[in-house]
Amino acid sequence: MDSKPCQLHVLFLPYMAPGHMIPTIDMARLFARRGVKATIISTPLNAPFFSKAIERDGQLGHDISIRIIKFPAAEAGLPEGCENLSSIKSWDMHANFFKAMSMLQQPIEQLLEECHPHCLVADMTFTWATEVADKLRIPRLYFNGTSYFAMCVFDSLKRYEPHRRVDSDFEPFIVPGLPDQIKTTRQQVPDYLKQTTEHEFTKFVNQVSESEVRSYGVLVNSFHELEPAYSEHYTKVMGRKAWHLGPLSLCNRNIEDKAERGNTASIGKHECLRWLDLKKPNSVLYICFGSLFDFPAAQLREIALALEDSGQNFIWVVRKHEDKEEWLPEGFERRMEGKGLIIRGWAPQVLILDHKAVGGFMTHCGWNSTLEAVTAGVPLVTWPLYAEQFDNEKLITDVLKIGIGVGALEWSRYAKKILVRKDDIEKAIVQLMAGEEAEEIRNRARELQEMARNAMEEGGSSYSDLTALLEELRALETSKQESAVH
Ligand code: UDP
Repeated sequence: MDSKPCQLHVLFLPYMAPGHMIPTIDMARLFARRGVKATIISTPLNAPFFSKAIERDGQLGHDISIRIIKFPAAEAGLPEGCENLSSIKSWDMHANFFKAMSMLQQPIEQLLEECHPHCLVADMTFTWATEVADKLRIPRLYFNGTSYFAMCVFDSLKRYEPHRRVDSDFEPFIVPGLPDQIKTTRQQVPDYLKQTTEHEFTKFVNQVSESEVRSYGVLVNSFHELEPAYSEHYTKVMGRKAWHLGPLSLCNRNIEDKAERGNTASIGKHECLRWLDLKKPNSVLYICFGSLFDFPAAQLREIALALEDSGQNFIWVVRKHEDKEEWLPEGFERRMEGKGLIIRGWAPQVLILDHKAVGGFMTHCGWNSTLEAVTAGVPLVTWPLYAEQFDNEKLITDVLKIGIGVGALEWSRYAKKILVRKDDIEKAIVQLMAGEEAEEIRNRARELQEMARNAMEEGGSSYSDLTALLEELRALETSKQESAVH
């Protein structure tokens, strides 16, 4: 632990969605390991997702704890027990969820006044967090949860609006002003950038951007060596103050941390590892589309057929399916016995990716999943669905060249239709796992894996950035105390 004049107290406010909560908890744990008193604000039904890991850290002597506040589900028109974005199934419910989030301002303000921390790390979705921190005269650090690359693309689209100058949704155009020539289409640009500023969600996104610019600085789950040109673009061209602290998933070192990260897994860790142990290195494709997206039965069937015909071993994660319709082709599980494993519900993703038998990951390109694959040296089959996932795909396939796309063209969030056909899925799988370029792609992924791990070691780029941030926060506190004395 560092020797320090005063112990910093940092409050972490994660957004209640797995893809934001998981890295924020990792970040809080990382801070605590470096001698910071870390307090995580959560709600009754979200805290159990990570409380065991926090208890384990406490037993190791780290100063980390959880503070529970009530989530105003009923007050915001949500069903009782709906405290996490993963239970939201429509845009209407989505709007109510944001209403509940805004109602948290007052209780959180109260909590801050009571704890009086030295700093507030708040997710991007808490648009009022910068203002609340200002009142207490403490810095608010902003956490977006995505790549530098995606933040740079977003800024360029927002600033130059190139999507307004094309004739059709599928006509490719260049995203202006970026270090590489990145092409996209209007179809892949988020609606909130295409709508007028009067639209509710567009208004919200604009508030997010304002609170980012007005915050003390930005914390990024990435490492310098992964996207150096974009980390420089973000800081030098866009002028943001930022620290990269990742890959944050690397703070999960033991098997319990990896197996229980984010939720209770629907498969025992030993069962999962035993299954993988029987497979040759790099012979298994892992398939998971994050924590939020549900494919309709017809699309799941296309995936099943592609998997079967690809001839590859696989672990396929399917979120619990409410659709009564049969989604597996007849006899699929019997035919795939020993070759394929379906996990219904939550998979211990980091544990699986870290196993040497895993040689590919078909992903929706959520940033956590992308970075976890990079950290494990696993190449990707990319199938972006919504949000900034199309940007992350371009980073993976065009810039880093560690993946092959299935050819997803359309943004889809709650729509229920077939997006990619069996033949296209199968083609990308076979190319990545056994195609001519497979070895080259794998080698590039391995090089990045090495860099990712080095970044988090003492003296590495992310380790050093966290050191610099903590020193800055301590210096800020010291100067505040000195000016109070004089
Ligand atoms: N995850 C997991 N098991 C699952 C599904 C997801 O551990 O069955 C984790 C995954 O490791 C990642 C996060 O959930 O850390 C998903 O975040 P990502 O940004 O990839 O996608 P999102 O869920 O936000 O769309």
